[in-house]
Amino acid sequence: MSVTPARSTAADAAEAAAHAQPEPRLRISEIFHSVQGEADAVGWPTVFVRLTGCPLRCTWCDTEYAFHGGQWRSLDEVLAEVVQYGARHVCVTGGEPLAQKRCVDLLARLCDAGYEVSLETSGALDVGAVDARVRKVLDLKAPGSGEVARNLWSNLGHLQPHDQVKVVIADRTDYDWAVAQLREHALATRCQVLFSPVYGRLAPRQLAEWILADRLPVRLQLQLHKLLWGEEPGH
Ligand code: SF4
Repeated sequence: MSVTPARSTAADAAEAAAHAQPEPRLRISEIFHSVQGEADAVGWPTVFVRLTGCPLRCTWCDTEYAFHGGQWRSLDEVLAEVVQYGARHVCVTGGEPLAQKRCVDLLARLCDAGYEVSLETSGALDVGAVDARVRKVLDLKAPGSGEVARNLWSNLGHLQPHDQVKVVIADRTDYDWAVAQLREHALATRCQVLFSPVYGRLAPRQLAEWILADRLPVRLQLQLHKLLWGEEPGH
């Protein structure tokens, strides 16, 4: 009896293990089911996949708890949890989700699985590799955020009509800045533009009156989830 086949099998297994790609993983802050509070899909039951980490520090950030912590999860594990909620919409958010390079793989997998997928991104990282089926909600950081220097203007060239640009506005200075960008970059010809007041700092009615007075082609956005649940995490 020869032992050669057994040696060969063991050697093959060792070689296969050496060449195996590590399973793609992402650091996940939380996955939860809620009502989409922002942007074009507002009001739809949605599964949110919140990725850990962000290289920015906006003054009015409401998800600082996602800067650190979370758990490493494989893409298969994330997909398996998402499917349990039976929702048609999935929103990948953060933090800044694109700070993890495997985020683009997750977005493509979700699209392949047939979901309506949106991505909430700070606008500071390149969106060029994001799957074209994803609806990008791209922030432009106004001066009041403290991060205006981080806007990556080349991202505007990657916008499609189904995407949205969002400006979060803290005061009149931010508003004037946003109007200047709207005009300089012809934002409203590229996609929908959303102006959103900083929760608790700028009265929504004030922003509405500025928009109407200037006849702006933008949508006023209130954060529906804040109206429903305040600042409770998990919504
Ligand atoms: S980009 Fe978003 S998550 Fe990051 S600090 Fe700003 S608001 Fe917070």
